[in-house]
Amino acid sequence: MGEDCELEVRNLSCQFGSFKAVDDVSLRVRRGSIHALIGPNGAGKTTCFNLITRYLTPTSGNIIFRGEDITSKSPSQIADRGLVRSFQICSVFQSMTVLENVCLALQRKTGDQYAFWRSKKSLKNLHETAVSYIEPVGLLPWLHKPASDLSYGRKRALEFSVTMALEPKMMLLDEPFAGMGHEDIGGVAALIQAEAKDRTILIVEHNLSVVQSLCDRVTVLVRGKVAAEGDYKSVSQNDQVVRAYLGV
Ligand code: ADP
Repeated sequence: MGEDCELEVRNLSCQFGSFKAVDDVSLRVRRGSIHALIGPNGAGKTTCFNLITRYLTPTSGNIIFRGEDITSKSPSQIADRGLVRSFQICSVFQSMTVLENVCLALQRKTGDQYAFWRSKKSLKNLHETAVSYIEPVGLLPWLHKPASDLSYGRKRALEFSVTMALEPKMMLLDEPFAGMGHEDIGGVAALIQAEAKDRTILIVEHNLSVVQSLCDRVTVLVRGKVAAEGDYKSVSQNDQVVRAYLGV
């Protein structure tokens, strides 16, 4: 595996009964890149994410992260190595405030979540660090509001800042723009771009104009198989991709 390869997926398959949802998928994600996984509904994108983070067990194949074979590791062992995902379904704690959700992630990172006493100074530091992740996603006005009060798009923004607060080496983002208004899409896209300077990002995204402007490389899945891979221009001209998207 080359020096600059952050994640390598080798011949990954996942079968549900007789149905192959992911069929011999190989994929290399370069360190520091924003790599998109696209494809029509049911192509196997979310299943791939579930396999990479071991929420599902592959039928066959290997997953190599930063040179280490993580295929047999647990989801928490994988997260501890710095490979963190955000979920398509909101995973923030609804009854906790925006600030508390991000503080919890920060404490989890330092293994400090069970401390029952903190000095005023360490609490202030914790809150300041949390705010540095909350401000860029535009959630400062909702700092002390429970997550349940947020719109769907703002919950996604909170989920994104929680993921960033874990300071992963690599983030898997499953449709981070789903449910967001135009104004928020621009802000979160800029944030993903800024984050990619320090980490690697694999993103499932339906909005092709976002993929075109944000992503360095694109892998297209169709019916569980890799149909094309390359930069946006080359994959968008691929016959199989055009057929899969336009249904012709
Ligand atoms: P995508 O994210 O590209 O829309 P998915 O990975 O969610 O696709 O699903 C790929 C295919 O696998 C779909 O046909 C889906 O119905 C099927 N599938 C996903 N999870 C399961 C499961 N746990 N059991 C059976 N079939 C599943």
